[in-house]
Amino acid sequence: MSALPLTPSPSVRYTPPSIAGDYTELTPKQKELLAIASRLGREKFAPRAQQIDRDAVFPFENYADLRAAGLLGICVPEEHGGWGADFATYVMTAAEIGRHCGATALTLNMHVSSTMWTGFIADDLDMTAEQRANHEAHRAVHYARVVGQGKVYSQPFSEGGAAAAGKAPFGTLARKVDGGYFVNGKKIFASLAGAADYYGILCTLDKPGATQRDSLYLAVDKNLDGVSVTGDWDPLGMRGTVSRTLIFKDVFVPDIERLIPEGLYAQAALRWPHMFATLSPTYMGIAQAAYDFTVQYLRGEVPGTPPVKRRMYPTKQIAVAEMKVRLEQTRAIFLQNARAARVDPSKEIRLGLYAAHYTIMENANEICRLAVRTCGGQSMLKSLPLERMYRDSRCGSLMLPWTAELCIDRLGRECLYEPGEQDEQAVL
Ligand SMILES: Cc1cc2nc3c(=O)[nH]c(=O)nc-3n(C[C@H](O)[C@H](O)[C@H](O)COP(=O)(O)OP(=O)(O)OC[C@H]3O[C@@H](n4cnc5c(N)ncnc54)[C@H](O)[C@@H]3O)c2cc1C
Repeated sequence: MSALPLTPSPSVRYTPPSIAGDYTELTPKQKELLAIASRLGREKFAPRAQQIDRDAVFPFENYADLRAAGLLGICVPEEHGGWGADFATYVMTAAEIGRHCGATALTLNMHVSSTMWTGFIADDLDMTAEQRANHEAHRAVHYARVVGQGKVYSQPFSEGGAAAAGKAPFGTLARKVDGGYFVNGKKIFASLAGAADYYGILCTLDKPGATQRDSLYLAVDKNLDGVSVTGDWDPLGMRGTVSRTLIFKDVFVPDIERLIPEGLYAQAALRWPHMFATLSPTYMGIAQAAYDFTVQYLRGEVPGTPPVKRRMYPTKQIAVAEMKVRLEQTRAIFLQNARAARVDPSKEIRLGLYAAHYTIMENANEICRLAVRTCGGQSMLKSLPLERMYRDSRCGSLMLPWTAELCIDRLGRECLYEPGEQDEQAVL
């Protein structure tokens, strides 16, 4: 465990800024949540991050702190006992947590998504009165687990095929029977494997000719018969996510575990595209952290290292200026995207969303690369956090459904084609 002092010495004068830029534009709830995330991050998560990364273990202690602070319910509606955070409030808080421990922020996102998708996103979807009543009853059960019992949900949808990229139906199948579903399938890269209480899986209703419109979102209790965790986990970065493989073999999942009504996931994916953009805030936080570290290092203010200044060299000043330019570009697009999130966004908002997600993921890694180059050899030491940020930042643009490649793919197509348009013949 790192022994870095929590209270900076009086000679430390650099104060890392708010992840959200100008504090005066924040709502009282945003300020409160950012303050909580910042305190937990500095005092609890950052000191534990090194060991979590080294041992590739899930950050259970951090989750106990998140639970105690009520942050597991950040997007649970207020009437169900949560914070009722909207999209912008959540992503800013997530970015603040990402500054201190990437794996904690990324896994928390899987959990929070299960409350966000069933919460304000589901509120914006068209449902029949019967579906709405049914949904209210189901989500009350899930929110009571989160808020009342501190239960944690994960969100495994990747399967290794085209489904997680949104190009094919999920291969995990749910066969409808009286009172529930029998689920069979496999999920790869399942963050929180073995750690979450419930796996919020996306699967396909097992019926002839099923398409993506038949996707189902079910919560599977990790202790049910037929649920197992397999494979090892020794990756480059984001090691504390423990994203192992989940196997579901004839698992009976009761009806009450349906997180949104049958068929509604496809509507959500189409009408609320920001639902897939909640992975990038973690990487916004890592970008800020890499910049903060660089400034502190060049000023000779990194706790636990000799107070040697390197800031007087023009090459260092230019390098930091370049990092700052890229960081502010990233923050601007991050905040714009956070505030633009809504149901049925215009085409420009949708294109801006792909551009934002791509920019944050790619810039986080680039800022970390610049940080390592600027700080020099000592920054590669495992006793300092920068090399971990560098490795963690590499993972962002690999994450489905919106990898950097797939963002470019979508952007290029949607810039050039209006809905319904296609060419007679592909041009070779
Ligand atoms: C740290 C970490 C945590 C993760 N946690 C989770 C989690 O909790 N839940 C979860 O569901 N997943 C999770 N993932 C999985 C992630 O989203 C990917 O599914 C995973 O990295 C597997 O990728 P792959 O390289 O096997 O994908 P492949 O499907 O082989 O894709 C490789 C690349 O090809 C491109 N590509 C893929 N399909 C298409 C297509 N149809 N058209 C064009 N290009 C395509 C994409 O750019 C992709 O990066 C996590 C990944 C990481 C790294």
